[in-house]
Amino acid sequence: MSNETALRDKLATCTRIFAMQQMLGLFGHISVFDAQAGRVYFSPSQGVDKSAVSPDDILVADRDGTVLDGDMRLPMEWPIHTVLHARRGDALAVAHLHAPYATLYAIAKRPFRPVTLQGSVFGAGVPIYREPQLVKTVAQGEDLAEVIGDSRGAFMRGHGIVVIGRDVEEMLYGSLILEDEARKSVEAAALGELDCLTVADCNAFGGVADFPGRSQRAWRYFANLESKWDGKPGGSPVAFA
Ligand SMILES: [Zn+2]
Repeated sequence: MSNETALRDKLATCTRIFAMQQMLGLFGHISVFDAQAGRVYFSPSQGVDKSAVSPDDILVADRDGTVLDGDMRLPMEWPIHTVLHARRGDALAVAHLHAPYATLYAIAKRPFRPVTLQGSVFGAGVPIYREPQLVKTVAQGEDLAEVIGDSRGAFMRGHGIVVIGRDVEEMLYGSLILEDEARKSVEAAALGELDCLTVADCNAFGGVADFPGRSQRAWRYFANLESKWDGKPGGSPVAFA
């Protein structure tokens, strides 16, 4: 299998997994960067049913946002991806999602903290990009990347989230964790004050070191479930427990 075939296949599968998890629909997009070839692969933009995305639906562009294959348009916020791919050698995969629970942290005036051990990979915190606008220019992408710094992602005020991974597996798993941590936080808040994990708690658990391996296992788990999914909207996301 060529690198291009493998990346198209992986990104299409990841798109469908996010659709199954109700984290990617009308809005949002994901990308993976082939650094050697200088090519960025994108999930298709608005109007495409994300539950049915195939490898042929994946768009290919250069780092300046010029589509290299076919006449489909890139997602409007393509600079989110190209700037991060260019600036960070460890940002080979990028998700921009309007995920329902994680986006609540882009709305509430409450800083995000992990609440379970799996969330410890975000133990250093998740910054917020405060400009409530779509990121449609490279300059805006640079501003967003500046806010993200060395972090694993960011909340985008009044908008959504960005999650970075060294590969598609890490991007998927990091995004699933952030969404699940947000959901658990919102639900636990009904019982009273949250007892969040501190930076020391997160460091002691050592989840960051395990993250690549856990991401691979999570990929196999979700890809298998997605292969059996009927693609119908309205079902429950796969439990993350
Ligand atoms: Zn957006």
